[in-house]
Amino acid sequence: MATSKDFSIAICGGGLCGLVSAVALSRAGISVTVFEASSFSQEAGAGVGLGPNAVRALKGLGVFDTILARSDRPEPASRLFSFVSAYDPHDCIYNYETSCSDPAALAIYRPAFLDAVLSLLDPSVIQFNKRCTSVVLSEDGKQRLHFADGTIHEADLIIGADGIRSVVRRYVLGSESNNSLVFPNSSAYRGLIPTKVLQQAGVQTVLTGRPVCFVGSGKHMIVFPIKGITVASINIVVFVTDYDKPVQPELPYPWVENSTEQELKDRCGDWGHDPSIILDHLKNPSKWNIHAVNPSLQSYIRNNVVLVGDAAHGMLPHLGAGVGQGFEDVFLLVQLLTHPQAKKHNLPELLKQYNIVRPPRANGVLQASAEAGRMYDSFSSQEDTGKLQKSLPGIWEDVWGYDLNKDVATVFESLYISKVFQVSNTSL
Ligand SMILES: Cc1cc2nc3c(=O)[nH]c(=O)nc-3n(C[C@H](O)[C@H](O)[C@H](O)COP(=O)(O)OP(=O)(O)OC[C@H]3O[C@@H](n4cnc5c(N)ncnc54)[C@H](O)[C@@H]3O)c2cc1C
Repeated sequence: MATSKDFSIAICGGGLCGLVSAVALSRAGISVTVFEASSFSQEAGAGVGLGPNAVRALKGLGVFDTILARSDRPEPASRLFSFVSAYDPHDCIYNYETSCSDPAALAIYRPAFLDAVLSLLDPSVIQFNKRCTSVVLSEDGKQRLHFADGTIHEADLIIGADGIRSVVRRYVLGSESNNSLVFPNSSAYRGLIPTKVLQQAGVQTVLTGRPVCFVGSGKHMIVFPIKGITVASINIVVFVTDYDKPVQPELPYPWVENSTEQELKDRCGDWGHDPSIILDHLKNPSKWNIHAVNPSLQSYIRNNVVLVGDAAHGMLPHLGAGVGQGFEDVFLLVQLLTHPQAKKHNLPELLKQYNIVRPPRANGVLQASAEAGRMYDSFSSQEDTGKLQKSLPGIWEDVWGYDLNKDVATVFESLYISKVFQVSNTSL
């Protein structure tokens, strides 16, 4: 296919944000290549919750219907959490209410999401088993990706979509030694349990309606049904955080290990009837040592290299908002790069606009996510109910209600005012 632009793009990382970027950019006729380190055979089989802002971004990028078709619900449903005491008798503390005009959201099995997006891509666009080791700016101003297999790829623009342990972020930060990553002494134990199994085991809390957050002291459990998997299942994530320890530097990789039911029970031994039954059935949970970008990045760009998703703002997952911020990044970037007047010579100006809008927004959500986790983990007894009932309302409003189209209008206006884009009858 003939390319519509005089620039080429290399995307480092074929995860959620990298693949969605590739679909939207290649559909617009831009020359794109994705380099993915894995062969996808080790893709973690966890669920991912997508909030209304994530859904709007995916709709705007033209991929949502294909993703939805891989989910077994005809329409995306709301993800309004019930906050329930982890202790007997599991009082409901707060049912989240939103003023968001379109609160449609989706929880989907991550491999199903990736399969759906991959089906929209010409296979020649993506190269697997290509681990990027560094980004280098050549003397002639080209960006080069260097790979572990000794090969090099040159492009006019590099999108770093290589997740929280991003190699591209090192280039953007200008430091090989500091990757701006911390371990806040927080682990997530994850697994899936068939819905029927939990129902038959006598769990009283309704698990197939609203997502549930069982709140406790220093730990909480997120429980929600997920789609895109053959057996109807409940996604379980138990977060345990040691707030007494100082935040640590990045832990040695891998951060995911196999855990046991016993380890989990030892850490959550004081929980009541329903979470205890769930833990009893969470066989061979995986344990994820959760990291976050900290301090947050003031800039997501350097030269013609731009970060999206966790590479830019890997955050604690307590608002289920991490990938939604990534899709917002991708939405704005795609609007800029596919504009009829986007050309190789004005790429730096386009990235500058991206960088004015995205860091304040995504870093704000990163901060709010950390605060939400502390809130959920502050519930020691019934006496804390009133405090949580005051602090929980509204925690998702800024995340979900965000107006992406307003951002697009603002950056285009700025580009016209600064004469990077020329006003013509067709561009107004
Ligand atoms: C326990 C837990 C629960 C979560 N729950 C939610 C949730 O409910 N909702 C939500 O929005 N978010 C959630 N998140 C966060 C969400 O998973 C991330 O925000 C999301 O995966 C980020 O997408 P990404 O494309 O930026 O990175 P990733 O999905 O991590 O993709 C990065 C890709 O880059 C590849 N890669 C890495 N390094 C290289 C390299 N050097 N060269 C080439 N390729 C490379 C990787 O193999 C991977 O395929 C959760 C996270 C955790 C840990």
